[in-house]
Amino acid sequence: MSQLLRIAAIAGDGIGQEVLPEGLRVVQAAASRYGLALEFTQFEWASCDYYLQHGKMMPDDWFAQLKGFDAIYFGAVGWPDKVPDHISLWGSLLKFRREFEQYVNMRPVRLFPGVPCPLAGKQPGDIDFIVIRENTEGEYSSLGGRMFEGTEHEFVLQESVFTRRGVDRILKYGFELAQQRPRQLLTSATKSNGMAVSMPYWDERTAAMAQHYPEVRWDKQHIDILCARFVLQPERFDVVVASNLFGDILSDLGPACAGTIGIAPSANLNPERDFPSLFEPVHGSAPDIFGQNIANPIAMIWSGALMLDFLGQGEARYRAAHDAIVAAIAQAIADGHVTRDMGGQLSTQAVGQLIADLVATSA
Ligand code: ATP
Ligand code: MG
Repeated sequence: MSQLLRIAAIAGDGIGQEVLPEGLRVVQAAASRYGLALEFTQFEWASCDYYLQHGKMMPDDWFAQLKGFDAIYFGAVGWPDKVPDHISLWGSLLKFRREFEQYVNMRPVRLFPGVPCPLAGKQPGDIDFIVIRENTEGEYSSLGGRMFEGTEHEFVLQESVFTRRGVDRILKYGFELAQQRPRQLLTSATKSNGMAVSMPYWDERTAAMAQHYPEVRWDKQHIDILCARFVLQPERFDVVVASNLFGDILSDLGPACAGTIGIAPSANLNPERDFPSLFEPVHGSAPDIFGQNIANPIAMIWSGALMLDFLGQGEARYRAAHDAIVAAIAQAIADGHVTRDMGGQLSTQAVGQLIADLVATSA
């Protein structure tokens, strides 16, 4: 791939403004080192400050402005004291997810040497898996209602929607990913012993999809025992695929098992590449630490590595750039060159600069 890849950079709110520049610094260092042609365009909107000035989170033509980009590199959004979360989130990130059909939410979870692990007795090699969450349908729907309100017969209904297209495409992504990884192992999160309609269907589609991937060893696990095993036996997992609700839970539990929120990356993918995919740290805008130059930039930087890997579509230079960034992160952590949330003393900028330097000189 030799064509220029165009990336929209959106800092958003709070520490998004502090960590995005460090992510860009590292991604640009990787681009120079590995000869990748990337072009960045920064946008000031999708932030609460923009909302306070314009009464909306984004301009009306946001879709047209962004749709031609290859990726969106996103900091964080939300400042609850200024703008309620339902306005800031629904007015920006959740619109991207829906309109750009980013139906895969992917979160790699890895324990790096030097990070204190909250799980007793676990070594770095024991925690190295990826959670794949369905991002557009399932349990999160606005279908339902309240009946006989105010009477003793009052009840509410909350519907789930699992379409064949929606279920199959997330399972397909999970199996394809598992097939490419050395362990070729997939776990499907279910609860077909409790949810009588949706989860048996999910299981049925999983078994059907598995037929196309004979190399992949797979099993299904009920969400309750799966959560317990994340904590007790994380070494059992490689690729974990889950519905919207179960994936939401697992994709917070996973990074928590690996030590710190400040390093957890995520990708919201449109695998067909009809629209840009979005790469962002798992953490939010963290107003409590904004403006002090102490925010940990590693989640943002790692998200940048995921972005390069996705953009490269398997091409070696992009894979190498991804691997170099992850190796540089590991090196910085192992040397204790980290921010204070991880027990270090470096500033946001110093960590970004150090990782960029390691990438620039990587073998
Ligand atoms: P969300 O916006 O996802 O709903 P939130 O606003 O509840 O999440 P965050 O903004 O992620 O939460 O912050 C939660 C806590 O973690 C805060 O105390 C914050 O200071 C800390 N934190 C979050 N991100 C970082 C970071 N990159 N470096 C250091 N501390 C962080
Ligand atoms: Mg927040």
